[in-house]
Amino acid sequence: MTVPPLRATERLYYADSYQRVFDARVLDVRPHDRGHAVVLDRTAFFPTSGGQPHDLGTLGDAGVIDVVDNEDTVVHVVARPIEGDVRGEIDWPRRFDHMQQHTGQHILSQAALRSLDAQTISVHFGAEVCTLDLDLSDLTPEMAARTEDLANAVIFEDRPVPVHMVDESELPTLGLRRPAKKRGQIRVVEVEEFDRSACGGTHVRRTGEIGLIKLRRWERYKGGVRVEFLCGWRALRDYRWKSTLVSDLAGSFTVKDREVAEAIGRLSGQLKERERVIADLRDRLFSSEARGYLDGARGSPKIIADVLDRSPDEAGTLAGKIVSAESSVVVFGAARGRIIIARSPSLDLDAAALLRRILEPRGGRGGGRPEFAQGALAAEALREAVESARVELRRMFDA
Ligand SMILES: [Zn+2]
Repeated sequence: MTVPPLRATERLYYADSYQRVFDARVLDVRPHDRGHAVVLDRTAFFPTSGGQPHDLGTLGDAGVIDVVDNEDTVVHVVARPIEGDVRGEIDWPRRFDHMQQHTGQHILSQAALRSLDAQTISVHFGAEVCTLDLDLSDLTPEMAARTEDLANAVIFEDRPVPVHMVDESELPTLGLRRPAKKRGQIRVVEVEEFDRSACGGTHVRRTGEIGLIKLRRWERYKGGVRVEFLCGWRALRDYRWKSTLVSDLAGSFTVKDREVAEAIGRLSGQLKERERVIADLRDRLFSSEARGYLDGARGSPKIIADVLDRSPDEAGTLAGKIVSAESSVVVFGAARGRIIIARSPSLDLDAAALLRRILEPRGGRGGGRPEFAQGALAAEALREAVESARVELRRMFDA
């Protein structure tokens, strides 16, 4: 059986992007992997296209999950089947947000063209941020501010944003910022006396409704510059949390808002200085402890064996201090069953081989270099292993 082609969906948003509620007839319902695919005779639902995300909302009592542009028809994906006549309602805050971002993008693209001579290569409208890829080798803060100022001046002038349907033959006289991708009747969106673009998206009626455009950050991307921007409510929300953050930081440093970065810089400098002082004190402490161990030992080389209540790192540092100060061999047990053997450079002893001889019969493992080796074994066997190493070293050096 062949399915007759469906009548083209009348797209209400082309004529009026402010229409939130509409009545329509269901022409077709089919199973869809996420529910049911519904085609209506007319719709205010915007399908994902031209980079703009689709609308959400309801058809009757069914939630609309997705809206897809399928050539002449608009396909609504709904959670449950519907039939007959339905009333549709779009999620207005979501739609208006898209209108603010989208119209703002037209203005920003024209502002970049006028202030930086930079073409817009591509646009992405995300759920949280939108981006513009500009044909530009670099963007300085001063250039960004110039573009931002021009775009916002056009917003504050509250210019009309009329939409015209024109024949493709008229296009050369219109001076479109970007050439039309379609043929025949072309929808042209104009920001009065500022920008003309071929576009099928939803836009605000006047630029004042965008409220504000803010360039948030930018980076080099694929030979151009990718700019992140926020319009309208998004810009306000972003300003709100950042403003709160700066106030809170200023409060905790007891400085003015503009002095926060300086205060953090000072703190970071103090922290580095303290780290340097602590490292110096630790070094002196270890030297003094090393001296204590050496003074308490006799013979040559001095054989020092002990179990320390310290981290393996600290035990290793202390052992290093001892063996570099005087001819000696050190065996230290440390936290978590760790064991370290270190010796002075002048001595003929393979610390790694000794460690393996001590650990292997006791179920431990370890290795290292002839002058410094470390390993681990069950914590309860540590003291006996250290003692056994001491006995072996005494025998080796006849101490
Ligand atoms: Zn547009």
